[in-house]
Amino acid sequence: MSNDNANNAIHDAVIVGSGPAGYTAAIYLGRAGYQPLVIAGALTPGGQLVNTTEVENFPGFPDGILGPDLMDAMQKQAEKFGAELVYDDVVSVDFSGDVKTLTLDGGDVIQARAVVVTTGSSYRKLGVPGEEEFSGRGVSYCATCDGFFFRGKPIVVVGGGDSAFEEALFLTRFGSSVTLIHRRDEFRASKIMVDRARENEKITLLTNSVVDRVNGDDSGATSLTVRNVVSGETSEVPANGVFVAIGHTPSTGFLGDAIALDADGYITVDGASTRTSVPGVFAAGDVVDRTYRQAISAAGMGCRAALDAQSYLNALGE
Ligand code: NAP
Repeated sequence: MSNDNANNAIHDAVIVGSGPAGYTAAIYLGRAGYQPLVIAGALTPGGQLVNTTEVENFPGFPDGILGPDLMDAMQKQAEKFGAELVYDDVVSVDFSGDVKTLTLDGGDVIQARAVVVTTGSSYRKLGVPGEEEFSGRGVSYCATCDGFFFRGKPIVVVGGGDSAFEEALFLTRFGSSVTLIHRRDEFRASKIMVDRARENEKITLLTNSVVDRVNGDDSGATSLTVRNVVSGETSEVPANGVFVAIGHTPSTGFLGDAIALDADGYITVDGASTRTSVPGVFAAGDVVDRTYRQAISAAGMGCRAALDAQSYLNALGE
């Protein structure tokens, strides 16, 4: 049933996304002989781990592994078993028939019998004045990418989860100070991360506080207007670097109403399976999972999606 990557060919299996879930699904479907096509994304193939430094908790690497190296290895392993990669984005889909179609940004139309969606999530924005204007000129969503630019400058991190704490600790290497601003007085982050931050003399924790505005000039961001949600008072916090780490939004916009999503835009699946509301369409990783969100849990779910897709394709073949 497999075919090559020419337009109009009908693929057995197309995987959308190239994070741990996508590549794991590709490894399994490749080994099963389906020659999966992986639509890896135009800008950020490899997903979030490409923007990570050391990954210490992926089993099999007792000394840790760099995020980009881990994703490179997963890609090579998928290609070794026959996966083919396309560096483009899916902009729309039609899942109404037995043969699904996916339209890419570059104009290509891909057809497939089974589709595995593993598009993950993107950074959530604060949505305050100045955020967009100073994005790339002070406002960043990736400490490991941009921390270096704020050597010796005041830095703010917004958020109260593990990401915010991880970024704050990392940014102490660069900033003259690191202020972590969180909207409540309790942190979602694990105790060990909070303890480490409290022990670090460069870090100040500003709680019950929200950012109302990013201020700046031609040189970039210079400060934040911050409001205490208990007293209502506002103050100005110096910040040349503003790192927003307030969670993620699932990347499902391209799906329209083709499959069922929950109220927050995550794909819903049938019980412990990876079956979406449309037969032949499967989903795995952070685009489904709002709870665990780990590289290893996404990889595990990618494996399940591949096995679910295989049994669907087997049933079609019979
Ligand atoms: P998260 O756990 O969802 O935390 C998001 C934080 O941003 C929360 O503190 C939330 O506040 C805050 N927030 C959300 N929307 C906001 C808004 N509009 N304005 C201001 N604040 C807002 O996300 P995450 O930190 O990215 O972590 C995601 C997952 O990855 C978690 O499971 C985490 O444990 C895991 N992770 C683990 C590690 C590690 O183990 N080293 C590192 C990074 C991430 P509230 O608390 O008030 O909701």
